[in-house]
Amino acid sequence: MAKTTRGKGLWNTPSRGRGTCPVCQSTRIKCLHTNVTEVGAQLKVCKKCRNKDL
Ligand SMILES: [Zn+2]
Repeated sequence: MAKTTRGKGLWNTPSRGRGTCPVCQSTRIKCLHTNVTEVGAQLKVCKKCRNKDL
């Protein structure tokens, strides 16, 4: 699988892949990973939160 979270591919994403993580509230972090919550909602989270149970 290609690296989807690194390099120039990010420049095509909204705000170039950066934002505030909804889980840990880190600002200006790359929120590129999808974590599915208990209720089935998909959140775009940072690398630190991608393996957390939500
Ligand atoms: Zn996070």
